[in-house]
Amino acid sequence: MNLQDYIRDIQDFPKPGIGFKDITPLLLSSEATAFCLETLVNSLQNQKIDKVIGVESRGFFFGMLLAQKLNAGFIPVRKPKKLPFDTISASYELEYGTDTLEMHVDAIQPGDKILIHDDVLATGGTAKAVCELVEQLGGEIVQMNFLMELSFLNGREKLGNKEIFAALTY
Ligand code: IMP
Repeated sequence: MNLQDYIRDIQDFPKPGIGFKDITPLLLSSEATAFCLETLVNSLQNQKIDKVIGVESRGFFFGMLLAQKLNAGFIPVRKPKKLPFDTISASYELEYGTDTLEMHVDAIQPGDKILIHDDVLATGGTAKAVCELVEQLGGEIVQMNFLMELSFLNGREKLGNKEIFAALTY
């Protein structure tokens, strides 16, 4: 199966000049979704995972599926003021200004083995902020995986020597 057939290019979204990779055609196909999930799980080679992080909001879809498949807990990382309990936060640079992500303070116990999941690795700013959240609570990042990596944006360079896997690379 070619996963690329299930990703739609939308020009000038959300702003003029941006080419957006739309994963909703993939979500419409149970076969493509199952294949993608299998691909992500197989990349882990039976490494033990305690908790899977999904990044708001498109990281929630496969994040939860991964957690169930791996017999792991699921942690939502969210935009500011969305989580109801006490939170920790990490900020990252955008083209103009900064953005912040939050996680509940009790989501990770020291030494927990963590898988970070999001739909797209672009410049790497989002993923780097999530790594900081995990490290604040003493979690151990086993892998970061993505449905796709936009390799021309060099996101990996921001993420040091972390284990990174993408089901598709552009
Ligand atoms: P980064 O911080 O530049 O790596 O951007 C990654 C974040 O932006 C992820 O949370 C993605 O959901 C989102 N993102 C960036 N580009 C795209 C895209 O083309 N399609 C869908 N999401 C994207």
